[in-house]
Amino acid sequence: MLLTISTTYSPATDLGYLLHKHPERIQSFDLTFGQAHVFYPEARDERCTAALLLDVDAVGLTRRPHGRFGENFALAPYVSDRPYVASSFLSVAIAQVFSSALSGKSKERPQLAETAIPLEVKLSTLPCRGGEQLLRRLFEPLGYKISAERHALDAQFPDWGESRYFTVTLQNTCRLSELLTHLYVLIPVLDDEKHYWVDDAEIEKLLKHGKNWLAAHPEQESIVRRYLKNLRPLTDQALARLCDTDLQQTDETIQAEEEAQVEARNVIPGLNEVRLQRVTEVLKQCGGKRVLDLGCGEGKLLRKLLREKQFEEIVGMDVSHRALKTAQERLHYERLPERQKERLRLFQGSLNYRDNRLVGYDAAAVIEVIEHFDLPRLTAFERVLFEFACPRTVVLTTPNIEYNVKFENLQAGHFRHKDHRFEWTRDEFHSWATRISERFGYAVVFHPIGPTTEDVGAPTQMAVFTQESQEEKTV
Ligand code: SAH
Repeated sequence: MLLTISTTYSPATDLGYLLHKHPERIQSFDLTFGQAHVFYPEARDERCTAALLLDVDAVGLTRRPHGRFGENFALAPYVSDRPYVASSFLSVAIAQVFSSALSGKSKERPQLAETAIPLEVKLSTLPCRGGEQLLRRLFEPLGYKISAERHALDAQFPDWGESRYFTVTLQNTCRLSELLTHLYVLIPVLDDEKHYWVDDAEIEKLLKHGKNWLAAHPEQESIVRRYLKNLRPLTDQALARLCDTDLQQTDETIQAEEEAQVEARNVIPGLNEVRLQRVTEVLKQCGGKRVLDLGCGEGKLLRKLLREKQFEEIVGMDVSHRALKTAQERLHYERLPERQKERLRLFQGSLNYRDNRLVGYDAAAVIEVIEHFDLPRLTAFERVLFEFACPRTVVLTTPNIEYNVKFENLQAGHFRHKDHRFEWTRDEFHSWATRISERFGYAVVFHPIGPTTEDVGAPTQMAVFTQESQEEKTV
């Protein structure tokens, strides 16, 4: 089994520093299943190629106690492709022979290890269950140019058709460590076999080597399933953990975007985050399992709710198609593991019309939405939510207009957002919310959100409504 890695980065022989293997020497390593040899077929300043030759001990393999390949095939010990093809043996060899390069470390060329350089990989015999199509679906999203030549099952008997073996060349401009992590994970995925027992430790390896790319990979689910040999408890766990990382990364991007817009939008950096965090806490405390996010916008609160196991059913509704589409993209809805997908539903609807889909929930969040309604529509909303949908708990926030004097860029008499139809003082909000609670049988408490001052209060005001019958029950 032969793997070569070439670069045309100048001086190309720096590849030796990245791999921690001297271009002028042949080095051999003992592995549990055979030997690995590293040498350089070419080492010029313009182009340098390192080769990893894997010499798998075919006889030794038949004596292995666990995780034998081809377990359903009686002749497997005698007729085996394992010594000749790229498989999980190659991943193990990469991890052992190129361990520093795999983790992105280079003592002599630390900066180069961090740099994207032109790289070309050639795999002499790569088994692809799923054919060239799968090969492309796995590597192309990571930026690779691929050429693949499929081999006949037996050149002397063309009627037997094609084999699953390919000679593959992959080209990309990326960090060497990235390339090695891609190979480490994706070779066994293409092969769809593992020479060793797969257990929890495999999840850690997969998440470690897939850290920077797997969560965003469109084939995430099939990669995880094949890598973990379709073992349901393992794949579920790995997909759930990936989903968490993914959400976290998206959070960071969105937060950065928001902070960049702070000046323009006259809001306090991080206020949105604090607000949504607070709302999530209140929803958790109220003990609900089925929750609505009404006017969910681009899904920032939904993302937080998804992280909380307590919420078994999470619904996001918004009047805007565009906002829902963005929410769907930002939550990577299509790529969520089935279990997460089942918890989340997004639909379009207006809070100004009675809607049976909203009936029967434990709690509803209406965050920074009511100030977008014309006043007659606010009256309709009151009945839609508190009379017809009537969730046990409603968490509602709106800006406190008194605080606007603190925004230097905001002209007196202007609202915080051009689509706001009104903004209320604390008194106005309290009297509206109190009136609502009395009319529809709820109790209400108020909380400031954000930095609170003595004279003008906090930038956001929150009301938490609890159905009175419920309140009595909990007292
Ligand atoms: N709750 C989100 C978004 C607030 S922006 C957050 O806190 O980040 C206000 C949202 O309310 C927008 O997405 C807007 O499309 C939505 N909205 C406005 N009028 C609505 C209506 N009548 N019914 C449902 N959603 C509405």
